[in-house]
Amino acid sequence: MAVRYRALRGTRDILPDEALRWQRLEAATRAVFSRYGFGEIRTPVFESTELFTRSVGTSTDIVRKEMYTLTVGDESITLRPEATAPVARAVVEHALHRGIAQGYPERLFYIGPMFRHERPQKGRQRQFHQIGAEVLGAPEALADAETIEMVWTLLAEVGIEDRELRLNSVGDEGTRTAYRAALTSWLTPHLPAMCDDCKRRAVENPLRVFDCKVEADQRLLAGAPKLLDHLTGEAAAHFDEVRRHLDGYGIPYVIDPRLVRGLDYYVRTVFEITSTGLGAQNALLGGGRYDGLVGALGGPAVPGFGFAAGMERLVMTMPEGQAAEARADVSLVALGAPGFQASIAMARRLRAQGLSVASPLSERPLGAQMKRAEKAGARYAVFVGESELARGLYGMKDLATGEQVDRDEAGIVSEASR
Ligand code: AMP
Repeated sequence: MAVRYRALRGTRDILPDEALRWQRLEAATRAVFSRYGFGEIRTPVFESTELFTRSVGTSTDIVRKEMYTLTVGDESITLRPEATAPVARAVVEHALHRGIAQGYPERLFYIGPMFRHERPQKGRQRQFHQIGAEVLGAPEALADAETIEMVWTLLAEVGIEDRELRLNSVGDEGTRTAYRAALTSWLTPHLPAMCDDCKRRAVENPLRVFDCKVEADQRLLAGAPKLLDHLTGEAAAHFDEVRRHLDGYGIPYVIDPRLVRGLDYYVRTVFEITSTGLGAQNALLGGGRYDGLVGALGGPAVPGFGFAAGMERLVMTMPEGQAAEARADVSLVALGAPGFQASIAMARRLRAQGLSVASPLSERPLGAQMKRAEKAGARYAVFVGESELARGLYGMKDLATGEQVDRDEAGIVSEASR
């Protein structure tokens, strides 16, 4: 029996019509990010497993149950579940921190696939794609605010107006130690009523209870002590400054004290931008400050700030009709054997002139060729037959109006390029 293969659960094909929307998003990303001085970095799709366990954190959902890890030879490798750690690795490996030490922050962005073994649902896949940006070597609060402003601008540029910025500070390492103690004593009497994952989190890394997706637990956690009330003076001042810059930009935000984000490396500012149109998985993007990450990976103490945006979710939220349509400029309609022969070279010449041309691959009846012109969404049908070739003039039919004129090849090019 013939086997029918299908894309694996949590993966999908992006077909040409949808790919146009992706291309538009990618083009806008490159245009906007380069205006802010970001250069593109392309890191490998797999890295050593340890890079992720050390950076993302062993008690996070990603490392505990979502990584695609395989052993090849005597190496344990993991398909990247996120790209901040790979970017930090690359910064150290290529000594980009030397420039940083001289006071030039490194601004990098990436676009590419990520892999997490999650339960697929709308807006959640096992292979998904992220656009991300990282600023390395800038401790200033303005780096946080300006990077948020950049992605806010990108959203506007691709037509996403339905967006909400949620902001929090998770403080510094010192803050977290004090807060962890306060949270643990609050959690202890509530734990029996909470899910098994939370019971485990409470022991391993109490802050991670805020990652819980169980609604009853979330309701309960609304009463938990707030990290924001435990900030050190420095962290509080940093947070105030980020807010002042955002106010200056006129970007609205809400403070969400329960926003902790699912990776261990964040300090100080964390943020998320959500959209109501997305349903349960409503986060378009998220990020924050990770001043200790590069050091933890064996590099020098280089502060960092960055975010990652889910491309599937951005594409879903981008308004319809924003994408250009895939349309041929011209569809050649060959009449008879000489017409077909001549159409082969003519298609090549017209394409060399920059036109998008649909052309027959074999002699076909006129009706079939007109259907092809329609399917290609061509603006014009151009008839190529013996008498046309003799005169050097071709019938050029506007397929929207039905109007037909005679044009030579140069005329076809100038008309169809308009
Ligand atoms: P994170 O790297 O977990 O902070 O996620 C950043 C963004 O990536 C999220 O806000 C989502 O838009 C997107 N994202 C994360 N995980 C997935 C997934 N499994 N499928 C689709 N998008 C995802």
